Amino acid sequence: MQFNRYLQFLFCFFLLVAVNKAQAPVANLQTILEKEEKQKFGLVIHGGAGTILKTNMTSEMETAYKETLNTALNAGYSILANGGKALDAVEAAIKVLENSPLFNAGKGSVFSNAGKNEMDAAIMDGSNLKAGSMAGVQTIKNPISGARAVMEKSEHVMLSGEGAEKFAKLSGLEIVDQKYFYDEKRWQQFQNVLKAEQSQQKQVKDIDPNIKDKKHGTVGCVALDMAGNLAAGTSTGGMTNKKYGRIGDAPIIGAGTYANNATCAVSCTGHGEYFIRYTVANNVSAMMEYGGKNLKEAADIMIHSKLVSAKGEGGLIAIDKDGNITMPFNSAGMYRAYKLNDERFQILIYKE
Ligand code: ASP
Repeated sequence: MQFNRYLQFLFCFFLLVAVNKAQAPVANLQTILEKEEKQKFGLVIHGGAGTILKTNMTSEMETAYKETLNTALNAGYSILANGGKALDAVEAAIKVLENSPLFNAGKGSVFSNAGKNEMDAAIMDGSNLKAGSMAGVQTIKNPISGARAVMEKSEHVMLSGEGAEKFAKLSGLEIVDQKYFYDEKRWQQFQNVLKAEQSQQKQVKDIDPNIKDKKHGTVGCVALDMAGNLAAGTSTGGMTNKKYGRIGDAPIIGAGTYANNATCAVSCTGHGEYFIRYTVANNVSAMMEYGGKNLKEAADIMIHSKLVSAKGEGGLIAIDKDGNITMPFNSAGMYRAYKLNDERFQILIYKE
C-alpha cells in the first residue's frame, strides 16, 4: 500500500513537470506574439510641398502622381514587411521617386541659374545617429544612394560637388550624363523664372500660375522597422534658378533630415533657407526628447507656428518610435502617403 502511494506521488510529480515544460514554450510564444503585435512598422513618404492646387491639376496628372507615390510606398513597405531595415526602405522608396520625372529629385530636378541640375540628398540612421549627405551633385543617378555611401563608406558626413561625384564613382554608384536629368517641363519653368527676373517682375506667378513656387516635388521618406529602428532620407533638385552653388536644407542634418531612435525620424520640404535657420527636423526631435511634446505637437509647433510667423512655406513628414505619424504643411498642398502594418494606408495631395 505504502509503495503504491509512493508510485502515485512520483507519477503526479513527473506529470506536473511535464505539463509545466509543455506550457513554457506556449507561454514564450505568446510573449513573442504579443511583442510582435505591439511592434509597429511602416513608412511615410512625401513628394514635396507647395502651391499644389486641384484647379491646376488634370485627373491624368493626379493619377500619375498617386501611382508613383504608391510604387514608392510599396518598394519601402515590402522591405519592412520582410523584416528589412528602415534604412533600406528609405533608400528604396526615395530611389523610385528620384527615377520619376514627376518629382524635383534625381531625374526631373529643377534647373539652377547655371542651367544645370544640382542635387542635394541626405540619409540618417536613427539607431546610431550616423548620417551621410551630398550637396550640389550633377552626375549621380541616385543622390540618395550617394548620401548612404558617404554614411557607410567614408569617414565624413557631408560631401559636395566634384569631390562627392568622385567619391560616388569610387564607391561603384551609377554615374550618368547630365542630360539624363533633363526634363522639358522643368526647363520651361526655369525659362519663365528667368524672364520674370529679367523683366524685374517679382511676381513670378503673373507669368505662369503653375510656377509661383520655384521648387516643387522634393522627395523624402521616414521609416520604422520591426526592430524598432528609425531612418529618414530626403532628396531634391533644390529651387529653380538657385545661384552660386546654393545648398538647401535637405542635405543638412537637423535642418531638412533627422532620425533618432529615442524620438522620431523627420524629412522636410519647402523653402529651404527657413528650414535651415529654424533647424526644423532636429527641433521636432528635441522637443520630444527634452520638452515632453508628442510627435504631432512638436511638428505642428515648427510648421504651423515657427515657420508661419517667419513666412517660411513648407511641410514635413515624421514617424516616431511607437509608429505615430504626422504630415503637417502650411502650403496649399503636399504630395504625401503612408503605409503601416496596422492597416493605415493613404495617398494625399491637397488639404483634406
Ligand atoms: N527644401 C528644398 C530646398 O530648399 C526644396 C523643396 O523642398 O521643395 O532645397
